Amino acid sequence: MANVPELFGSNVFGDSVMKERLPKETYKALKKTISEGKSLDISVANVVANAMKDWAIEKGATHFTHWFQPMTGITAEKHDSFISPTTDGKVIMEFSGKELIKGEPDASSFPSGGTRATFEARGYTVWDPTSYAFIKDGSLCIPTLFCSYTGDVLDKKTPLLRSMDVIDKEAKRLLAILGNNVEGRVVTTVGPEQEYFLIDKKLYDKRKDLIFCGRTLFGAKAPKGQELEDHYFGAIKPRISAFMKELDEELWKLGILAKTKHNEVAPAQHELAPIFSTTNIASDHNQLTMEMLKSVALRHGLVCLLHEKPFAGINGSGKHNNWSISTSKENLLEPGKDPYNNTQFLVMLAAIVKGVDEHQELLRVSVASAGNDHRLGANEAPPAIISIFLGDELTDIVNAIVDGREYVKKSESKMELGVSSVPTFTRDNTDRNRTSPFAFTGNKFEFRMLGSSVNIACPNIILNTIVAEQFTQFAEELEGAEDVEKAARDLIKRVFTEHKRIIFNGDGYTDEWVAEAEKRGLYNLKSMPEALPHYITDKSINLFVKHDVYTAREMHARYEIQLEDYCKIINIEALTMLDMAKKDIFPAVSAYTKELSDSILAKKSVCGDMVCDAEIDLVKKLSALLSDFYAKIKVLEDAVINAATVEGDIAKKSMYYRNSVFASMQELRAVADELETLTSGKDWPFPTYGELLFNV
Ligand code: ADP
Ligand code: MG
Repeated sequence: MANVPELFGSNVFGDSVMKERLPKETYKALKKTISEGKSLDISVANVVANAMKDWAIEKGATHFTHWFQPMTGITAEKHDSFISPTTDGKVIMEFSGKELIKGEPDASSFPSGGTRATFEARGYTVWDPTSYAFIKDGSLCIPTLFCSYTGDVLDKKTPLLRSMDVIDKEAKRLLAILGNNVEGRVVTTVGPEQEYFLIDKKLYDKRKDLIFCGRTLFGAKAPKGQELEDHYFGAIKPRISAFMKELDEELWKLGILAKTKHNEVAPAQHELAPIFSTTNIASDHNQLTMEMLKSVALRHGLVCLLHEKPFAGINGSGKHNNWSISTSKENLLEPGKDPYNNTQFLVMLAAIVKGVDEHQELLRVSVASAGNDHRLGANEAPPAIISIFLGDELTDIVNAIVDGREYVKKSESKMELGVSSVPTFTRDNTDRNRTSPFAFTGNKFEFRMLGSSVNIACPNIILNTIVAEQFTQFAEELEGAEDVEKAARDLIKRVFTEHKRIIFNGDGYTDEWVAEAEKRGLYNLKSMPEALPHYITDKSINLFVKHDVYTAREMHARYEIQLEDYCKIINIEALTMLDMAKKDIFPAVSAYTKELSDSILAKKSVCGDMVCDAEIDLVKKLSALLSDFYAKIKVLEDAVINAATVEGDIAKKSMYYRNSVFASMQELRAVADELETLTSGKDWPFPTYGELLFNV
């Protein structure tokens, strides 16, 4: 293993490289842009571009690319080499400030949700100097924003940066009223914990469902699943360990703070967590991490599955979005020793409680995807209902404030393990809660509903904006108050009283909670087609337009794209299922039935009264199931055909995909999985769950 501090960030054009390679004035100007958002002069850009190019070439790069995050959820890149011809028929390596600042990819092939006609193909990528350039696979990658010729935003990064500007502005305004004049920016910070599966590439290649859909569409349960709970935090096997070591190195080279790695609950499932950073960087780094997970896995003969639910019957994968708000001096969600009297902290907390309660449906939308529909509410991930876990101490404080009582702090309790040689330590003031979708964990909130493949920009845009809106409202209320402290305490009391319903510390997996949440009037949006229409209500649009995070047009476009995407995904899954059902499963079962029938005939020919009950019984069972299977193929085929003829808007179409196509897929799968349990191993056409999950 190389020297880690030396390795770390070695492929990043980061602060120390800039300091070393840029003239002092250029470095200062660039730093000002990065820390204060000041715009950058072209002459400065020229100098930066040249230094970047020289550095990249020394590192073996030959190309550069503007790296951006279109609305489809993955990252995009188009590589140009540095070469420029000279008069003597040779080339020199060049890279200008103009090329650094602006690119012009053809935007027509990226989804725009109708904001742009195909003939208006021009799109721009624009350098984001707040995220460092890096080298990947021989190319200098420049993080950029992506917009259309008409100025409509076509990516996920621009609104994220806008939402960070809003929270910076509104937090500073509110804090100033509270007597805290912040220097520099107020930022949100994020540490995303990434779950994933690793399976053997040779087995993966034998399953069309994994290849086309990233998840298994068929598969009977293996004799063993996750019931022994022996995988979570278990010793990491050598092949996986080798993969993780190489992954860490690749991530460290890119300046990604990969910190924690461990086995997860399900067999073949693992997790990686970085140390948190500002939301923009965390979001770029998480996109890169997902890309690296996939590419490093291939080098080890493995495939990394980032789908939210690759296997039925065992846990799927999510991503915990640990989120906080900080100044350069303090974490604003740090309760301190005496939270009850920490008015600034309680104001922050009240803003989050109110924001989450008032815009629950938007948070639900922010994590909606066809893949995540398999998890939310399926007793493994948090339920589809949004609620906040505060833990015992903060809940006691909130209750005391609401009831107008003085709060008495409980004394800290020591842990004694009864072993004299180990040190005693203080017990945390609250236990963990694993089932809450939005949990306070000491000095940050952990939003746990994200699916494993989501671009974390989406939930963070929404989180930042709904909280910024509360800061605005609070500032308006407190501005000009004679006694700010008293006005703030009154506000805190009123907000907690009005929004207490969103706080729930119990078990989110129970039916009682579902019933209780309904009584409290909380949303329970079970699927993406049910959730998405809440994105384009007047309430939601007004919020984002007010803070200049999105235009109404951009929101409608995003709504269309997401639901279109949902329909396309279900459609691909249905077609893949039909293909596997007709070309693989049906012939396999039919062949096995024939084998059994032949065997019956052979036995009978040896001796007329030979006992053949078992074979006959099995042939009958298989034949009945196969006939049912065939009927369900027809039902699914009809559903797919009808989907194309559904009239009306995209909301209606996506509902049809959910209620008819997806429902028929489930039915077909149930029969196939039963057939699998009865068919001989040598005839079954794909690797089984047992092989896929326990072979690495
Ligand atoms: P756990 O969830 O097991 O308690 P940690 O406390 O280590 O784990 O935190 C999990 C993630 O939360 C890590 O990625 C960590 O960097 C991140 N995190 C810690 N503090 C903050 C913060 N102030 N803002 C955002 N993320 C944070
Ligand atoms: Mg966690």
